[in-house]
Amino acid sequence: MLNIDWNSLSNDDLYTIAENLKKEKNCFILAHNYQNMEVQKIADYVGDSLQMAIVASKTDAKMILLCGIKIMAETTKILNPDKKVLMSHFDADCPLANMKTPDDLRALRKKYPDAEVVCYVNSPAALKAESTITCTSSNAEKIISSIPEDKQIIFVPDKNIGAWVAYKNNRELIMFDSYCYVHEQITLEETMMMREEFPDYSLIVHPECSLDVCKEADLVCSTGQMIDFVKKNDRVIIGTEIGLYDQLKYHYPEKHLVPLNLKMVCKNMKKTNLQGAVRALAEEKYEITVPEIMKQKAKKSLDRMLLFI
Ligand code: SF4
Repeated sequence: MLNIDWNSLSNDDLYTIAENLKKEKNCFILAHNYQNMEVQKIADYVGDSLQMAIVASKTDAKMILLCGIKIMAETTKILNPDKKVLMSHFDADCPLANMKTPDDLRALRKKYPDAEVVCYVNSPAALKAESTITCTSSNAEKIISSIPEDKQIIFVPDKNIGAWVAYKNNRELIMFDSYCYVHEQITLEETMMMREEFPDYSLIVHPECSLDVCKEADLVCSTGQMIDFVKKNDRVIIGTEIGLYDQLKYHYPEKHLVPLNLKMVCKNMKKTNLQGAVRALAEEKYEITVPEIMKQKAKKSLDRMLLFI
């Protein structure tokens, strides 16, 4: 396997090698909804952060290959401490997750010592370890509403999801100024123009978009919830990273779907390609490890989140 001339292989060759390797190594492949379609095709499960976390916690495979970004592979490792967890690309990481450090969060906690800390899942294990509970875009609202009204809440790291759940729950949240560059760039003006161009389409957006854009949408939800919406609706504007639109067009060619904006491309998610993913599995490269103390603390935060599914 190590002497393969990888560049000479077609996609069909790579799909066959991936299938054989999965059986040989007892490996389960998870891919995020934002991955390229060619990568999604080798996955045993494709989903959003929460769905992947749930599936990862249940598989009995010996090895997991995570096609996505580093923080997702860390979450998978924390939930599967005895399994070998591989990443599909050595430096696919999330800029949002790294805008603030654990020291920044400790400083904020010092300022608000009685506050509960809710940490969006797109964060490094070190930040989760400093938090009370993790949340995803699909359960953030529920988790915030479960916290007593007289408790202050620090919400990290995404200010846009924070602003959306604060608006929906009519709560004040203490936040950093961090954001996802892919979703933050979409303006209200661009969104209104799409509304005018496609007046009989529903608009669904991810809560990492700005509050103005979210308020204009018919539904604000996770990518997993977007897929459920498209199953039941025929004309939809998709307001999230373009990988989800590609996936929906592939599975539902008969539907009328348009992307909110073609510039919603996450360079980090797109670092993984088919050859890279299969090679990572063949050579068992890019194994993820999380320091023990951090793993234990982050797991508590993740376990609390899993009660809200
Ligand atoms: S889409 Fe945004 S939040 Fe998701 S990985 Fe890319 S930068 Fe991070």
